[in-house]
Amino acid sequence: MVALLLGAARTFVQRRTKPPVEAGSVVTKTPLRTGGSNQDETAMPHCENFAPIILTGDRPTGPLHLGHYVGTLKNRVAMQRSHRQFVLIADAQGLTDNADNPDRIRRNVIEVCLDYLAVGVDPAYTTICLQSSLSALNELTLFYLNYVTVARLERNPTIKDEIRTRGFGRDIPAGFLCYPVAQAADITAFKATVVPVGDDQVPIIEQTNEIVRRINRQAAREVLPEAKAVVPKIGRLPGIDGERKMSKSQGNAIYLSASRDEIGTAVRRMYTDPGHLRVSDPGKIEGNIVFTYLDAFDPDVDAVADLKASYRHGGLGDIALKQRLEQVLETLIAPIRERRAELARRPDDVIDVLRQGTKTSRFVTQQTLSEVREALGLFILA
Ligand code: ATP
Ligand code: MG
Repeated sequence: MVALLLGAARTFVQRRTKPPVEAGSVVTKTPLRTGGSNQDETAMPHCENFAPIILTGDRPTGPLHLGHYVGTLKNRVAMQRSHRQFVLIADAQGLTDNADNPDRIRRNVIEVCLDYLAVGVDPAYTTICLQSSLSALNELTLFYLNYVTVARLERNPTIKDEIRTRGFGRDIPAGFLCYPVAQAADITAFKATVVPVGDDQVPIIEQTNEIVRRINRQAAREVLPEAKAVVPKIGRLPGIDGERKMSKSQGNAIYLSASRDEIGTAVRRMYTDPGHLRVSDPGKIEGNIVFTYLDAFDPDVDAVADLKASYRHGGLGDIALKQRLEQVLETLIAPIRERRAELARRPDDVIDVLRQGTKTSRFVTQQTLSEVREALGLFILA
């Protein structure tokens, strides 16, 4: 799998004889569609025009971690050739709980982009774009806010949970409470029907579809498509604390850029079974985070089953178990880390990918905005 990912990443380097943006955005070579033209500037040469559209994204609150890898990145790499895929670096959404620290968001835009390219998100197949540079998204958000109630926003279980973990109390930034509406704007602006997400995002997709249905009902026709969440088997990867999901904001993550030492330190901090004191003691698998990670990342399923059997029975020590996990994670991360370091030495190329992808996305999202304005019956000034 890693070899496959790196293969895709490598094509990005080889393509350097031409600017990477050329390959990633053939679409932008076509001039902006003006009224009456039937050209499709958004056509992707690698897939049919009717291929399903994917939109996913990440908040640039920090570099990406193993939760992102199993949660969405693997899917993005696997699906990019058969779909029209857009990946949004959601910096405006990142500000909703970081308004006092915009520097954190700005710095991490490139970090996240580096992570994408390093795992094999290939600009030849995927359009990577920057949310705050797509003004159509803000306009759509403003219109959509009229199709959702404050009570509904407050009931969203993901938002409730995030408000709790962020300790907002009653001082919830309005932008944070409303971010599911902005996310509805993101998804629908690209007319995405497939959204690969961790399971924490499922309620947000449900809310998106409620807004879509209300707008379509208002317009009395299908202006926007509904979207389907694609959730990986693991649902959400817990953090190394074993309590909450792995998250950039919780300090419980193993990053895709982690050094061997950082991986080792993180694995040593993981708790296993507190009742498993001696090597010979029988141990518990359930709730044992080391096994959760082995299930998620160890390609040798049979070997993991054997390890579970001997841990349950007694005779397998935590140190040996953790050494195996450390090696599994190092094997996964080392090539990503190296590839990332190589790309980090060429920041201008990375920025070019983002610039070109954003330009393409601007066409797409403006087009949807025009359709929505018309469908909602606004006065259109010619
Ligand atoms: P933050 O703490 O700033 O919210 P995050 O680590 O939760 O950051 P996001 O940018 O909010 O990351 O999430 C981006 C995508 O990655 C979402 O689809 C989310 O569901 C998925 N994702 C994030 N963390 C995990 C995880 N631990 N397991 C599975 N998927 C995850
Ligand atoms: Mg999050």
